[in-house]
Amino acid sequence: MLVDELKAIVGADGWTTDADELEPHVTEWRNRARGKALIMVSPASTAEVAAVVKACAGAGVGIVPQGGNTGLCGGAIPDNSGRQVLLSMSGLDEIRTIDAGDFSMVAEAGCVLADVQEAARRINRHFAVSLAAEGSCQIGGNLATNAGGINVIRYGTARAQVLGLEVVLADGTIWNGLRSLIKDTAGYDMKQLFLGSEGTLGIITAATLRLHPDPGDMTTVFVALRSADQAVALLVRVREKLPDGIQSFELMSERALRFVERHIPGTTSPFDIVHSWYVLFDVATGTHGSAIEEVLADAIEDGIASDAIIAKNTQEAQRLWRLRHSISEAQKHEGVSLKHDISVPVGRIGIFLQRAQELLDTMMPRARLVAFGHVGDGNLHYNVSQPADVNADEFRADGTAVTEAIYKLVVELGGSISAEHGIGVFKKDALQRFRSPVELDLMRTLKLALDPRNTLNPGKVI
Ligand SMILES: Cc1cc2nc3c(=O)[nH]c(=O)nc-3n(C[C@H](O)[C@H](O)[C@H](O)COP(=O)(O)OP(=O)(O)OC[C@H]3O[C@@H](n4cnc5c(N)ncnc54)[C@H](O)[C@@H]3O)c2cc1C
Repeated sequence: MLVDELKAIVGADGWTTDADELEPHVTEWRNRARGKALIMVSPASTAEVAAVVKACAGAGVGIVPQGGNTGLCGGAIPDNSGRQVLLSMSGLDEIRTIDAGDFSMVAEAGCVLADVQEAARRINRHFAVSLAAEGSCQIGGNLATNAGGINVIRYGTARAQVLGLEVVLADGTIWNGLRSLIKDTAGYDMKQLFLGSEGTLGIITAATLRLHPDPGDMTTVFVALRSADQAVALLVRVREKLPDGIQSFELMSERALRFVERHIPGTTSPFDIVHSWYVLFDVATGTHGSAIEEVLADAIEDGIASDAIIAKNTQEAQRLWRLRHSISEAQKHEGVSLKHDISVPVGRIGIFLQRAQELLDTMMPRARLVAFGHVGDGNLHYNVSQPADVNADEFRADGTAVTEAIYKLVVELGGSISAEHGIGVFKKDALQRFRSPVELDLMRTLKLALDPRNTLNPGKVI
């Protein structure tokens, strides 16, 4: 029987069917969905992952890989059938090798992102993926979702940080592609298939990660704005004046900041008066520290910023970043919200926000907009919180049409309905409507070729 076979593969400490232990693993981060698992297994090595996958393939049973379960689109939890195997990757948490001279490390998939960053820091190197969930999400999950985060403007997405991969394929075969090559044109670049595939094409067990020189101290700046258009103008100005210095560029609406102050103890806006929008960004001090004051003074004089604060020390910088990193958590306390993790070309952020506001004013005039995100990459979390006195189910039902209208607008402006969180389950239908038949066919062809029995994260993405 499959369950006994799995128990034998992972040993007594490597599995559970206990409902309490399973609860956090079968519940989506925002509590938007719950599933049931036949069993959760936690292999301790690539060989064990391969044996688990092979056993599931033999039995024709679906397998759902799970990292930190911080993904926000329902991709890491099993469905409701109670027949799927949950594969926790937490047991594969070793940094296998790290090489300062090669600017690379080989990390297992279950390493927590913050630990990967810390391992790089210890040898005076920098790992460039950073996001608010970094204390619990895993590098395998980051690569499987092609995570973005706050440093994409400087270093690119998670995909750009990968030199090689080790993957367990649908039949349990191990593909060892752990090369650390910068240049490699020998045939198709297979690793790209698995990056961003959300566990539907293979199980990532380890990765050769690209490291960067330590960028050194950062100057952290918090800027108050009258409009989102100003954010884009400021971004252009900062990029022109401080090329390569800019590490992040985050936008927050006034309401996003207000929710954080209301719900996250110890947080407070650094400005005495309320402004409509804010931008938070880091610049590498070494190359551009002194120039930043001049850039900000000019920006205020030229009317593209209202006020600005430069953090005086690390503690102050951390306090400012806490405001940004707490928005998702704070928004949870304000009831149900419609989430739109979208991207448009950076130059169209202003027009997107203007036209999306017109849509909201017409379709849902009392909804509370909480927009924030990685505006430097054209990526906004265009979230809409329910009005306090509206029933949550009613709000969700009305929200379907709003989401559809926003996605249509995004696509019309040349954008994407999923910028960095992926598709999972929640956006599966939308993907069908907003990607071309040719692209969808290519995706199905890949899925069929690599997972012909549909046992790898079935029901997700495509
Ligand atoms: C507060 C908060 C802030 C966030 N901010 C950002 C942000 O700025 N940028 C961003 O991109 N995301 C962000 N996210 C979303 C989330 O953190 C990322 O998607 C992250 O990369 C998911 O990692 P995880 O380990 O939690 O993956 P999980 O949620 O466990 O899994 C995500 C998907 O990957 C699959 N998967 C997991 N591990 C593997 C593996 N080893 N092999 C194959 N498939 C696998 C799962 O089946 C699932 O489909 C945020 C989430 C939260 C809660």
